[in-house]
Amino acid sequence: MRAVKLVNWKSDPEIVDVEKPTPAAGQVVIKIGAAGVCHSDLHLMHDFDQRSLPWGPPFTLGHENAGWVDSIGTGVTSVHEGQAVAVYGPWGCGSCERCRLGLETYCDNLTKAPIRGGGGGLGLDGGMAEFMLIPHERFLVPLPEGIDPLHAAPLTDAGLTPYHAVRRSQAKLTPNAWAVVIGVGGLGHLGIQILKATCASRIIAVDPRSAARELALLEGAEFAVAPEEAHLFIMDQTNGRGAEVILDFVGSTSTMDLGVSATRILGDYTLIGIAGGDFRFTFFSQKYEVSLQTTYWGSRNELVEVLELGARGLLSAKIEPHTLDQALNVYQDLAEGYIDGRAVIVP
Ligand code: NAD
Ligand code: ZN
Ligand code: ZN
Repeated sequence: MRAVKLVNWKSDPEIVDVEKPTPAAGQVVIKIGAAGVCHSDLHLMHDFDQRSLPWGPPFTLGHENAGWVDSIGTGVTSVHEGQAVAVYGPWGCGSCERCRLGLETYCDNLTKAPIRGGGGGLGLDGGMAEFMLIPHERFLVPLPEGIDPLHAAPLTDAGLTPYHAVRRSQAKLTPNAWAVVIGVGGLGHLGIQILKATCASRIIAVDPRSAARELALLEGAEFAVAPEEAHLFIMDQTNGRGAEVILDFVGSTSTMDLGVSATRILGDYTLIGIAGGDFRFTFFSQKYEVSLQTTYWGSRNELVEVLELGARGLLSAKIEPHTLDQALNVYQDLAEGYIDGRAVIVP
């Protein structure tokens, strides 16, 4: 079968022929229905190297996956052949307290995990291939009635990550509050839908691309503005107070400056994008009692909730499907800002 492999750090991936995997005891092989094209893969290709992460190439890309169970190893009982499933991407040990709570992003016992702080498409072979090996059945979430693998795939990361970030600030997202979404790409456009579906706060979106701003308005943002006018606009709308919750899906120095300075007293600024910006944190670098926080992906339990939103039509990625042969061009398009919503590879 063909696969989109990252072969070296600081390089573009290659389309190569690899063996179809077979499941050992306790493992599952799924046929990929779709694999999302995440901006994090661009960081993997261009920004990171062996000093950044405990794992590295070669591995097949694709950490945002859904499909159908193809074959199961002995002892697997919770899924059956042909079943439609989404892949929970962060793979921990499965037995520490965090993993038992479904929070495998923060496994306490990574030496017992399939890989140290990664998963399929992040150090181990991912979903940009016809088939993918899943090391344990608990990494599969059966799809509820009403959603197929094509639509479920983007929800496993571009949906789950903003969902986790919104949940973290839920108490501050009251009907009289403002939420600001910086960066309306794969994660951001679903972030707006999640805000709409789970709280009644008013939403301002920020993106330099006019197509992204149009998408933001379509998804339910009340306003969409370009970065250079964003600070003044947010302050105007909020009577000079700032927004209660700011979700930064870019993470450059300029979006961090914008986000932190536009957060209201007692508000949350959450950094999700990993563009590599920095910010000098002092007592007076933000308003009183503003929380500066990061979030990483989400829990398995939250993925169950996200898929439920998807099945009920409350969360639906704007999808651009492409074949596996087109993957390298799609990454190029993502880098240059030509993708609206989420591109997915359908092998
Ligand atoms: P994307 O390329 O689909 O979207 C990024 C959007 O940001 C684009 O619409 C772009 O026009 C916009 N943008 C660029 N510069 C901007 C600026 N100065 N102000 C406002 N908007 C700007 O990317 P994505 O796949 O949605 O990923 C977004 C970021 O989140 C990436 O850095 C990715 O690596 C990161 N990410 C983090 C996690 C996590 O767990 N923390 C998970 C997945 C992805
Ligand atoms: Zn991702
Ligand atoms: Zn664990």
